[in-house]
Parts: sequence; C-alpha cells; structure tokens
Amino acid sequence: MKINNNYNNLKDNYLFATIAERVSAFRKSYPDKKLIRLGIGDVTLPLPKVAVTAAKKAADEMGDKATFRGYGEYRGYPFLQTAIASYYADKGVKLANDEIFVSDGAKSDAGNFLDIFDTANTVLIPDPVYPVYVDTNIMAGRKIVYIAGNEDNGFLPMPDSKIKADIIYICSPNNPTGAVYTKEGLKAWVDYANNRGAIILFDSAYEAFIRNDKLPQSIFQIEGARTCAVEIGSLSKTAGFTGTRCGYTIVPLELKVGDTSINKLWYRRQATKFNGVSYIVQRAAEAVFTKQGLAEAHANIDYYMENAKIICNALAQKGIWHTGGENSPYVWLKCPDGDSWKFFDRLLTEFNIVGTPGAGFGKNGERYFRLTAFGSREDVTEAVERLKKL
Ligand code: PLP
Repeated sequence: MKINNNYNNLKDNYLFATIAERVSAFRKSYPDKKLIRLGIGDVTLPLPKVAVTAAKKAADEMGDKATFRGYGEYRGYPFLQTAIASYYADKGVKLANDEIFVSDGAKSDAGNFLDIFDTANTVLIPDPVYPVYVDTNIMAGRKIVYIAGNEDNGFLPMPDSKIKADIIYICSPNNPTGAVYTKEGLKAWVDYANNRGAIILFDSAYEAFIRNDKLPQSIFQIEGARTCAVEIGSLSKTAGFTGTRCGYTIVPLELKVGDTSINKLWYRRQATKFNGVSYIVQRAAEAVFTKQGLAEAHANIDYYMENAKIICNALAQKGIWHTGGENSPYVWLKCPDGDSWKFFDRLLTEFNIVGTPGAGFGKNGERYFRLTAFGSREDVTEAVERLKKL
C-alpha cells in the first residue's frame, strides 16, 4: 500500500492553520488582551435578507410532499443557472445555461478542475497568490512554474512567450495583493493561452469588489476567452456565503483540447464525483442575483470597502507603502522591517492585531503583509488607532 507521495512535498501546514496556532499560543499567554483580527479573509456581515427568506421557503418546500425534491441536476438547477446567466448578461457576457456549473465554492473547483487534465501538464502560477493553486497542484504532482508579481509590474505579471505552460491560474482581483488586471492585461493572457493551446483558470472570487467600471470583472469580457478560459466564481465574498457554500464554474462550449470538449469532460467528472449544492442553498443563491439581493450584497461590500479606505488612509499617514484596497477587500503593505513573519509577530505581540504574512502567499510576498477589510468598523477603527503607534 502506498500513499500519494506528493503530499510529502507540501508544507506541513496550510497557511491559516499556522497563523491560528501562533494566535492560540499568544491567547494562552495573554488571555486578557483584546485581539483584532484583520488576517483571515472571512466575511463578518450576515447574508442578504432576501437570501435567508428564500432559503427558509425552500426548506419548507423540502418538508412538504408536494414540493419535496431529491437529487438535483448535475450542473445545478436551471433557475440558478438562469440567474447567473442574467448576472453575466449585465456585464455584457452571454452564457448558455449548459456552460454554468453550480458548485460548492471556488476553492473546491480551483483544485477539482485539475482532475480532467493530465498530470504531465505544466502549471503557471503567479506569485504571490492564493495558496490553494499551488497546494492542489503539488498534491497532483504537477510541474509548477512561477511568474513573479512585484512592485515593478504592480503585482500583475504578464505572459512571457518563453514560458511553456499548459494550465494558467489568474486571480483578479488578486488575493493577497488586491491588484486587478486591465482589459489589455487580460487580453495578453488570452492571446498567450490561445497561441499555446493552454487553458486559463480564471478565479473571479472578488469580482464584485471592482469599483472601477473600466476594469474587467469576467475573463469573458475579453475577446478570445471562450476558446481558452474557464471562470471560477463564488458567492462567498460577493454575498457572505463562506459558511453557506455556493459558487459556479463557467466552461464555454467552444473550449476544446484537440477534439475533446472540456465542458463535456467537466460534466462527466461532476456527474461522477460531485453531489451538487443543496436545493435550499441554490434557492438562496438565486435570491442573491435578484435586484434586491444584489443591492443588499453591494451594501455589505460598500461597508467593507469603507474599512479598506480607513486602513489605507492610516497606512498613508504612516508613510507605509501599500496597494490594493480600492477594487478589493485586501490591502497589501510593505513590512516596515522586512521579514513578513517577524512583522506578523510584532503586530500580534505589540499591537494585538492579527494580519497575514505575505510569505504565506509565495516567495514574492516575503517582504509584504496582507490586511483584510472584512472586520467590523469598530475593530478596524481601533486597529488603525493602535497602528498610529507603529
Ligand atoms: N479564490 C480566492 C482567490 C480566494 O481568496 C478564496 C477564499 O479566500 C476562494 C477562492 C475560496 O472561495 P470559496 O469560499 O468559494 O471556496
């Protein structure tokens, strides 16, 4: 019997587990200190009310013989696909229902989608970025090539024709840097992928935070993307679904490798390995895409973005280099004293603030630090007061 030996190539701990351990050790030593958490990227505001009402109604339906439902559709219920298609139509993107696969979230699909690709493919991953892309590919034993995001390129690495990659992850707005590709930037990636016959896995988990309407919220707003890209979306940050779980993956019908339809292959994979999202949650998700649902979701996002502004203003006053926070809930700052884990410890012990060391997102994050805007206004205001002493 042999285990999947690739797991031995992973770092011992998932980034946020390491942070949790350090925070818990601090708590044990100083139980009376009030910690402010601007670290983990979890939302704090509740679901839009219309989503809760829809979920309750759906729960009642499930308890009534006349409206009870068993196993759902493999791609998700048509009512939710239609709601997602209309959300995209408002962005100028036309989608067929069969191109929309409802999922339990972007993290799962960012990893699961790899199932349909050979492990001999080379993966291109920007650095720094959401660690799940790296870890899932290490688990599969794939060769990973990193492409550097840094201050010079605004943390938006561009394609390099010398790099021979088959699968490309793009996260825009980026976690952790908050950087967002322009249409021209994404077009360059689409051209690179189409020229190489590579596939882009575009993670749009934070698209709802984009405030500048010139910036693309979907890769399918870019000409040529339908033949080279898959988009992975989520309601987690858009509408507070981190604990409710719903996302979607868009796989265009035109997307092919040789003669093989990627849409068909993904359908086959999902039908075999995925049980779908519960009817109740899909009804709640459908409600998010109504006018009222989007208004409530956007009001929550506005609240977070005001937090981001408060954090950015405080950093500016201290003369600390930072970026992000304008079209993303993440503020990315340069550690005043270099090393990001050292800065993490200093913030924790001196200021009782929990942030996320950039090193956890890749080599290029080593001298940077991520603060998130997902906290309460009171916490953010207090954190900023504390930071004045930095
Ligand atoms: N993609 C990115 C870039 C993220 O930062 C996160 C969560 O932090 C996710 C995906 C996870 O989304 P979900 O909750 O839908 O799995």
